[in-house]
Amino acid sequence: MGSRFEITVTAKDSVTANKHFDSAITEISRIEKLISSWDVASQTSEINRNAGIKPVKVDAELFDLIRIAIGISKLTDGAFDISYASMDKIWKFDGSMTAMPSKEKITASIVKVGFQNIILDEEKSTVFLKLDGMKIGFGAIGKGYAADKAKSLLIAKGVPSGIINASGDMNTWGKQPDGSEWKVAITNPLNKNKVFAILPITNGAVVTSGNYEKYVNFNGKRYSHIIDPRSGYPASGIISVTVFAPKAELADALATSVFVMGKEAGLDRINQLPKVECIIIDDKGNITKSNHIEIDKL
Ligand code: ADP
Ligand code: MG
Repeated sequence: MGSRFEITVTAKDSVTANKHFDSAITEISRIEKLISSWDVASQTSEINRNAGIKPVKVDAELFDLIRIAIGISKLTDGAFDISYASMDKIWKFDGSMTAMPSKEKITASIVKVGFQNIILDEEKSTVFLKLDGMKIGFGAIGKGYAADKAKSLLIAKGVPSGIINASGDMNTWGKQPDGSEWKVAITNPLNKNKVFAILPITNGAVVTSGNYEKYVNFNGKRYSHIIDPRSGYPASGIISVTVFAPKAELADALATSVFVMGKEAGLDRINQLPKVECIIIDDKGNITKSNHIEIDKL
């Protein structure tokens, strides 16, 4: 999935713990095979290859994930959109980009972005991308989804508590062996060595989207890897969004969404959602939090 997973479990001995690690890793690899748009053999790649051509039959699991993604697009007024992926022909964050893409190119590509053109047929379990050149990608939700699945699997296997850490996105359940709650430290992206808050999480996920890891610089301006699907340009104004939610999948998708929606609209939406909280750091270093969050300042 292009990200590092770290798994923590509590178990009676290390043999049992290792068995659980293997199960979790197998589960994450299985999901990667299904949703990766890099792996040409995945069902997701099959959907993308058939854009504008024909519907593709997929597993119920992938179908459901796409349905959830479309639901989040509706919830965020299109800020979150898995069909942003056709823009990855224009914006590349692997170091290969040498110049700012032209306005014309962006305008031409943006017409291929739009969750309204992802056509689902529940009865046939098919997915059809209506326009030729359309593409979907799970970069903003896949990690969270895989973490949730690994967590559910371990819970089903009787693991009383643990943490799935997907490149810093934390998903926990149960308590620490000494009975205390798991605690997550939030760092300030402007100074990564400095923790500015420590929050307990008993059964839930904390996910951060930031522009400090994948970006390109042109003319002194930083362009992040999160694209506004409505304009085709990278979102700006925010440097980091941390979202707390019961599930990592939702937290992951919403962190990306708030980045695109901006501080006001993003906060407003988060405040309407039950059990969802967020912390936003803008490019001036201002820290804003949602209504029901208590930060113990260090
Ligand atoms: P990170 O990879 O740092 O955890 P995110 O979870 O925010 O960050 O995901 C960013 C990734 O999501 C991008 O690299 C890209 O693959 C994808 N993406 C970019 N813009 C959007 C968007 N508007 N909607 C959905 N996915 C997006
Ligand atoms: Mg995300």
